[in-house]
Amino acid sequence: MINSCSKVNINPLYKPISFGRKHSTYTQNGIDYFIQTSGCKNIQNSKMFIPHYHGFSIPIDCKNLPNTKLEGTQKDIEYKKKICSNTGIYGIKPYKLASVIGPDEFKDAIINNSSNRNFYVTGERPQDKLNIPDSNKLENVNMKIFGGDYHVHTINSDGSLSVEDVLNQAVEYGNEYAKANGTPFIIGITDHNTVEGCKQAVKIIASNPDKYKNIRVVLGVEISTKEAELNGYKFKKPEKYHILAMCIDPFDPKLNAFLDDLKSQSGNPLNIKAISVQDAYDGVCHQEQCFFGLAHPAYPDITHRIYDDKDPYETTKELIKHFKDITGDRGLYSEAYYSSYSGDWSTDPELYKTIIKACDNLGLYKAGGIDVHGESIFYSGQRIKRK
Ligand SMILES: [Zn+2]
Ligand SMILES: [Zn+2]
Repeated sequence: MINSCSKVNINPLYKPISFGRKHSTYTQNGIDYFIQTSGCKNIQNSKMFIPHYHGFSIPIDCKNLPNTKLEGTQKDIEYKKKICSNTGIYGIKPYKLASVIGPDEFKDAIINNSSNRNFYVTGERPQDKLNIPDSNKLENVNMKIFGGDYHVHTINSDGSLSVEDVLNQAVEYGNEYAKANGTPFIIGITDHNTVEGCKQAVKIIASNPDKYKNIRVVLGVEISTKEAELNGYKFKKPEKYHILAMCIDPFDPKLNAFLDDLKSQSGNPLNIKAISVQDAYDGVCHQEQCFFGLAHPAYPDITHRIYDDKDPYETTKELIKHFKDITGDRGLYSEAYYSSYSGDWSTDPELYKTIIKACDNLGLYKAGGIDVHGESIFYSGQRIKRK
């Protein structure tokens, strides 16, 4: 039940990305309001206003909330609270993680941002292996219309940039992007089989939330799997297959135990024991808020080796179907726009059409990723071999 409204000054750039869905504020006569619910009226000097969502106030246990502004849907707030409690670090509070994107906010972004220009730096030559972005070619970046870079590796796996570097580059662009668009720029940290970079990102963001107000960071992980067969067909040797788990809690002990076990023999997240897509899903799905994405479905490993009586398009279709079969409702999207495929295969328009059609048929959103490994967040670059 709503018993009072309070006028607050809101920096529009702090607001959750809202695409027609009502988040924590509403606007009347040009003034933004938060709704304060009756359940919180006894908090003294309360700066906490409870989000008003689709006309209902969300019941939140007020005594567990910090005495400051927290925004987002209940699911997003719960996610940040969970991360904070799992860090075990005093001083990391949910409100300091405004720039960590919550699952609802991420899903909205995937649904509403699904266009090529958001995931593929236009003007870049995909086959170009140089690690230097040519500023003349970064058309959509220069125009400030490139809105989401969901697939970035750091030095914690085979990337070239530290997490701090990634965030600094994102902030530099994000400040310009937000000025032009009124919404934050989204960047995903998705190292291979490790969440160390995501842990670093949480700590860095919490140490200076204001600096990161114009970006949203997706905490993710790219898990390497091998499949010996696909939809009933047995491969001659197991084939690589990468899945992305997005909006994860990197401090979750169960997830860490799972990832530690994968690299237990080598100690290296780039050299893990072979698991199936089902095993990868099982290792992360207990985190109920997280979503799964299929990475680079046309990446040569699995689709180049055309199996006996199938064509490459058919194989790609089956790969996407296999992903959806295993992840079900949690399988949110597939990378459909992807800039680091190499070779002739990468420029085949039929292949892109096949991926887009398969996503549409299976109810997967079409997103993308640059799969950054180099020194610029706008360029895929070269993978770094680490021991
Ligand atoms: Zn990959
Ligand atoms: Zn990757």
